[in-house]
Amino acid sequence: MRCKRWRRVPLDLAQEALQKAPSGCVDRAVQCQLPAHEGDEHYGLLAELDAYGTALWLRWRVDYVDLVVLRDCPVAGPGPDGGGCCLFADHAEQHTWEDTVEVPPHTSRS
Ligand SMILES: [Zn+2]
Ligand SMILES: [Zn+2]
Repeated sequence: MRCKRWRRVPLDLAQEALQKAPSGCVDRAVQCQLPAHEGDEHYGLLAELDAYGTALWLRWRVDYVDLVVLRDCPVAGPGPDGGGCCLFADHAEQHTWEDTVEVPPHTSRS
């Protein structure tokens, strides 16, 4: 289950991100990329910065928001078809490829 928190990107940070993003575009709002987690610090991906395997992230808490450049998580999934992890190095919680099994929503109300 992915964290459901969204954050609108403040205008000044959006402009700063635009200057750094190779694609020249960033989203106006981002969803936290972490699996559902404890704590109130969230990370939304703004742009891949390619070259050195880094990406620009929006990091926020209730009363705090900032831009951070983080290295990509180097841990790929097991097996020959293991996908890469979409998060940053040393992130908390599990890797994104550990969360690919679709779990049906609760259908029983008993
Ligand atoms: Zn989150
Ligand atoms: Zn990872």
